[in-house]
Amino acid sequence: MDKIETIQEGYVTKVITHLNYLKQERLPTQWCPGCGNGIVLKLVCQAMEKLNFSQKDTVVVSGIGCSGRSAGFFDLDSVHSVHGRAIPVAEGIKNVNQALNVIIISGDGDLLGIGGNHLLHASRRNTNISIICIANSIYGMTGGQSSPTTEQGSRTLTAPEGNADTPIDAQAILKAHNSYYARTTVFHFNHADKCITESFKHEGLSFVEIRTQCITNDGRRRGFKNAYEMLMSYKDTFKINDNTDTLEHNEIGIIR
Ligand code: SF4
Repeated sequence: MDKIETIQEGYVTKVITHLNYLKQERLPTQWCPGCGNGIVLKLVCQAMEKLNFSQKDTVVVSGIGCSGRSAGFFDLDSVHSVHGRAIPVAEGIKNVNQALNVIIISGDGDLLGIGGNHLLHASRRNTNISIICIANSIYGMTGGQSSPTTEQGSRTLTAPEGNADTPIDAQAILKAHNSYYARTTVFHFNHADKCITESFKHEGLSFVEIRTQCITNDGRRRGFKNAYEMLMSYKDTFKINDNTDTLEHNEIGIIR
């Protein structure tokens, strides 16, 4: 779809659609067919459009990994930072210019593993930034090693007999300092849209954990035939509960 333009009173005025936030010459993305990252990209752009975020006043920061490529697709100021350091880079930008909407889009390995220490302190400081965590349960770009959100027993490149460890409890980290926390999935598109839009409106640190699929380096190893089957597994596993102060393992919702 091309950018939409309308003529108003003799001037050509660009009408903002969610696609205007992206460098369309860089689409389609280089992500694998069936990867959930593109769904998250669209959700973020839609939320920006809904809240009338101007490209001039918005910055996107990513770390490293497949989802870390997100920053490069945005047609606004963006930083593809180094591994695990998206949060301090975003905090620095926000501290220099409080008027900016500062959004991080990165993976669970980057934000909760290598950059986990930064999340602890950003939460403690309640820095007013929005973190969108693409949680695909794996280090996708490097072949499918166990990540902080890998389920116990799940087979990965580094745990062929099943992951021995329990996954990180991101909810507990964010709740410890009363930060905004939401868990959702790419299957629950409208719910994910609400979680992201509300997080962008939140004053203070917000963290949205979006469960999504890596068919190439995770799903196939676990016996899924395709990305559709993985999407359906989110439908079967997760139930929406927006009336609780603690989400159970199989629940999605918003905790403020
Ligand atoms: S390897 Fe996985 S996470 Fe990376 S682009 Fe492919 S499907 Fe997506």
